[in-house]
Amino acid sequence: MPKALTFYDNYTRSLRPFVPLNPGGDVGLYACGPTVYDYQHIGNFRTFMFVDTLRRVLEWNGYSVRHVMNVTDVGHLTSDADTGEDKMEKGSRRTGKTAWEIARLYTDAFLVDMKRLDIENPTVLSRATDHIPEQIAFIADIEKNGYAYRTSDGVYFDTAKQKDYGHLARLDVKGLEAGKRVELGEKRHATDFALWKFSPPGERRQMEWDSPWGKGFPGWHIECSAMAQKYLGDFFDIHCGGEDHIPVHHTNEIAQTEARVGTRLANFWMHGYFLLQNDAKMAKSAGEFLRIDALIERGYDPLAYRYLCLTAHYRGQLNFTWDALDSAAIALDRMRNGLYALRDAGAAEPDPAMIERFGNDINDDLNVPRALALAWEALRGDLPPAVKRATLLAFDRVFGLSLAAWEPKVDIIPEAVRALAEARSAARKSKNWAEADRLRGEIAASGWEMEDRADGYGLKRRAASMSSR
Ligand code: AMP
Ligand code: ZN
Repeated sequence: MPKALTFYDNYTRSLRPFVPLNPGGDVGLYACGPTVYDYQHIGNFRTFMFVDTLRRVLEWNGYSVRHVMNVTDVGHLTSDADTGEDKMEKGSRRTGKTAWEIARLYTDAFLVDMKRLDIENPTVLSRATDHIPEQIAFIADIEKNGYAYRTSDGVYFDTAKQKDYGHLARLDVKGLEAGKRVELGEKRHATDFALWKFSPPGERRQMEWDSPWGKGFPGWHIECSAMAQKYLGDFFDIHCGGEDHIPVHHTNEIAQTEARVGTRLANFWMHGYFLLQNDAKMAKSAGEFLRIDALIERGYDPLAYRYLCLTAHYRGQLNFTWDALDSAAIALDRMRNGLYALRDAGAAEPDPAMIERFGNDINDDLNVPRALALAWEALRGDLPPAVKRATLLAFDRVFGLSLAAWEPKVDIIPEAVRALAEARSAARKSKNWAEADRLRGEIAASGWEMEDRADGYGLKRRAASMSSR
């Protein structure tokens, strides 16, 4: 029996054994999803892969998981202090498309990259704009319970009404209040946040809805409280997101749910730590960021990036470098080839001792780097080939590297290229160098390169066409 499953919970700041709230039922897992005003960068995908690994570890332990992810397509303002404009409307101006068009464009692009990284589809993928009535009902309850107030630009949550507001982030609310430099406007406290914002007077927003308080749009935090509650209930097992969500977004999701039903929404609060580039957070708002496409353009398999993320524990930041990605690509290639060499070994059960050690690693707050080291130990060790293969394929249920499906790429040489090569070989034999050169040119134009060898010749694809690998 492997050790009991334990996770680090940021709410209690402790490692706790995971005990499902609904034994025999699904484990409820909510993860904050993409804000679709731009492409997602590889940092965002580090967090989504952390959630995917968490889900796979739960499944390894025999749980079925109800995994809900939202798509933020309205309400996420450029500033966490409820000022600035809606990121969607800003994206609309940047691209010349409507807010609805960019939501669709970037959601589709996000889903393509999820597949490229072998991230399992969430059970429910829910758009904020499809859940406006739920958000309005949620705000109405918060208001009824006395936690909301109105200003000229919206409805706000009164954080001073909650004595443990900010517990998740261990916020120093008094210090924030005393040291506040931001212009409060009509907000009563620095930590108060918008539940509903009114459309600016005399302006028509692309995305706006009627509400009991006036035409406008929901705040960003309310969408997650409302959709999580709708699909998973008032108190479910695990809520995830990136580390940046701890002080504001998740703090406010908890405040809203406490105000409405008195729970802290989820039993475990788990966070993926940042991907850095040049030791700074990779951020869309910083303008420059790397997409999965950029890795592919440089000839990398997206799963090499997944491998790289598996080498670092989710609770530590990871600095991205091309050298690190190179090493990951080489390691993945070796692992794939090592397993491929065992393809004819036959069927067997995984090695029980290895499976137990693997379970101990992943159950220890997702210690995937250690589990990866164990995979190498298994591959290099002296288990019978069939057992070795079965063991690694079992591990890959958690790694998600698609090891079973991989095959070395064999270049099939087209008949016409083969004929040109034969003709060139003959020309060389008869010392017809001009003709040999001409044929080399023709072969190159077809995208191939001929290597002359003592015992004949070889053909390989030209480097330029390798980039689409
Ligand atoms: P967003 O599209 O900005 O709403 O972010 C989507 C997810 O990516 C959220 O869970 C963020 O916390 C997370 N995230 C944002 N930047 C990074 C980063 N540099 N590294 C890891 N996760 C990130
Ligand atoms: Zn959220």
